[in-house]
Amino acid sequence: MCPNVPSSQVDFTYVNSATGAKFVLDHFIVSHNVFNGVSRYVVLHDGDNLSDHHPVQLELCIDVEYSTCCKAQPSPRPAWHRAGELHLQRYREHLQNELLMRVEILTEALACRTFNCSDHLDDLKVYYAAFMKALASSANACIPAWKKKAMAGWSEHVADWKEKAIFWHSMWLSGGQVHGGWLHAIMLETRAEYKRVSRWVVRNQEKLVAGCMADTLCENRSRDLWSEIKQEKDSNCRQSNVINGAVGSHDSCQVFNETYKSLYQSVPSSESELNILYEELKAGIRDKCQSGAC
Ligand SMILES: [Zn+2]
Repeated sequence: MCPNVPSSQVDFTYVNSATGAKFVLDHFIVSHNVFNGVSRYVVLHDGDNLSDHHPVQLELCIDVEYSTCCKAQPSPRPAWHRAGELHLQRYREHLQNELLMRVEILTEALACRTFNCSDHLDDLKVYYAAFMKALASSANACIPAWKKKAMAGWSEHVADWKEKAIFWHSMWLSGGQVHGGWLHAIMLETRAEYKRVSRWVVRNQEKLVAGCMADTLCENRSRDLWSEIKQEKDSNCRQSNVINGAVGSHDSCQVFNETYKSLYQSVPSSESELNILYEELKAGIRDKCQSGAC
């Protein structure tokens, strides 16, 4: 408990207003690894505090690593299924220009046949990055992007009321914006209903999305079902910024790189090791067969 820390300046945290008796009733409780990091522990005897308990304040001085949970950057994704012949033609031309302008053909590196050649590795990385950039920028420039899907239930429940509200509002405007009277009453009524229904749809998104999924399942529209699921998944997509102590996307990639490298190399691959394994297996099979246990 924090009153035991050397830097504690807490005299009392509670005063009985009838008797004037003072006690230390309010505490911070911290774990052992934080205990030594308490740099200041005080009580605030403020004049404007109407409670008979006084607030305690704790300051910590410990090294922490921030784990910012960043949302995946929404980048415009090309919707290839929406691309027509004209889009594809423009894409081909754009890509051709991009490749000519930005990608240098590294003849020597591309012709090199040395496996895992370290001399050309950096060149090939640059070449690959330039190639991918050309593909991405051409697709962004020429292929229609994915449209943000409207809220579930919006077209069924809200669209009509929105149209009505806009219509009666424009009627009321063109009628001279008279307050009172039937036109004003209809305008207010349709607007109120539009507002009510749109709020209901926003509040009930989860149920409406689940309903859409159930409908697509019942009607056996598997393609629509997967697009609904994908949308649900995308909306909750978050990326951790810290993995195994590595901070940021670059360092996190290195962690995966190292892990997979050691994973793939955990199986013996040298000829001598494989020969030993082969002999062991052969001896095992022979023993089993000779003893009739095969
Ligand atoms: Zn090489």
